[in-house]
Amino acid sequence: MLVCPRCKKSLEIVKTLHLGPDGSSDEYNFQLVRCAHCQLHAAGAYEESRRGSDASWHHDVIEIDRGDWNRIHGDIERCSTPETASCTCEIHKQYGETDESDYHRPLRGMHTIGTWLPIESVR
Ligand SMILES: [Zn+2]
Ligand SMILES: [Zn+2]
Repeated sequence: MLVCPRCKKSLEIVKTLHLGPDGSSDEYNFQLVRCAHCQLHAAGAYEESRRGSDASWHHDVIEIDRGDWNRIHGDIERCSTPETASCTCEIHKQYGETDESDYHRPLRGMHTIGTWLPIESVR
């Protein structure tokens, strides 16, 4: 189970959009997460890197404006293959765009609240 960074109860992944590699990750999964207990509505990023000798991953969340959350939810629903990073639909193009440093910035233009927090996972 994933642990809500705010109330420590369980965090639900509502949507996942696989964005593929960028300048620092081999895998980048953009997610919408929600906590049914404290009503945290957030975006998540799961990044995995297999470059060099130290393979690593991190999984973080950041609270976002509810209107943006709903908009992203509707956007991801418009893609029929959200878990296919090589999908070439408009939504994948829009969210998977990389910036001048070659990093994914799926939250560009969104209203975020607070800072990125690591997600813990417990069995
Ligand atoms: Zn919570
Ligand atoms: Zn797509």
